[in-house]
Amino acid sequence: MYAVRIHEPGDPSVLKYEEIASPEPGPGEVRVRLRAAGVNHRDIWVREGAFGAFPEPVVPGSDGAGEIDALGPGARDYPVGQKVVVNPGLSCGRCIYCLSGQQNSCPHYRIFDGTYAEQVVLPLVNVVPMPSGLTFLEAASIGIPFITAEDFLTRAQAAAGQTIVVWGANGGLGLAAVQLAHMRAMRVIAIVRQAGYADRLKQYGATDVVVWDGSTALSPDILTMTNSRGADIVVDSLGQATFVQSVEMLRRGGTVVTVGGTTGGKVTLELGQIFRRRLSVLGAYMGSSSVLPRILPLFARGVLIPIIDRTFLLERADDAHRRMEEHGLFGNIVLDI
Ligand SMILES: [Zn+2]
Repeated sequence: MYAVRIHEPGDPSVLKYEEIASPEPGPGEVRVRLRAAGVNHRDIWVREGAFGAFPEPVVPGSDGAGEIDALGPGARDYPVGQKVVVNPGLSCGRCIYCLSGQQNSCPHYRIFDGTYAEQVVLPLVNVVPMPSGLTFLEAASIGIPFITAEDFLTRAQAAAGQTIVVWGANGGLGLAAVQLAHMRAMRVIAIVRQAGYADRLKQYGATDVVVWDGSTALSPDILTMTNSRGADIVVDSLGQATFVQSVEMLRRGGTVVTVGGTTGGKVTLELGQIFRRRLSVLGAYMGSSSVLPRILPLFARGVLIPIIDRTFLLERADDAHRRMEEHGLFGNIVLDI
């Protein structure tokens, strides 16, 4: 089978399309013939070696969809040919966090890598039946962005009528947060760098769209838009460039969600801003294993919509990463396998 592998960290050119041996499923595992893989920011960090050096070549990619093509001993729940979506959180299944449905707090929690490939072997618990009405490309685009956004909105107790601000609203994670907040009847203020995306963002649930030039302070605008009250929740995936502003634009008692830091991770903050105003800082990293099976039917019914920026062939994963790094995309990038 063919897969895209990384032998050493580097720029997109280190993504090598090569023939490797087919993996065999062990006890309780299934092998999936993947038809599509979602591209996430995490894949870029893997490629750059942010999670450490590679003792052996790594196949990146956490999201994917395809058909089961082999069953390991004891894996009887699905027939060969069953269409499935990869649920990419791996955890021990036995600790108090796993047993209480908070798998992403498990000490052994990690995100699966390996979907930039024609075949992948996974524990049976890490595949979810794919609902009809979705294509493989659409199904592969949902995973990490929607699991993460649904998990942090639930933990932040996002409620109808509240105001939520989403930085980078045109990206995969941003659009997931916009749609899921709209589904909760929230007022969604979407911040983007490109004025051209305003109409499409409103189509997917943004109430207001603010175009940011990358340097101006936006917190006064948000305060004006909320009658000096401030937002209930701010979703910040940019980090260093925006986090202080995110704190400033919150109402007293509001919550800032920090979910990655694509502009860097170092911030200088006056702590009084947090404790005097009774703010909450909520760190978000993926979500409970129950999220994906719970939200997939909402896509099949058209309540949520997979948004694909562009599709690339698996062998052009390098171009897909270059597109991802342009930061001007709208929705998710998907590899056609
Ligand atoms: Zn566990």
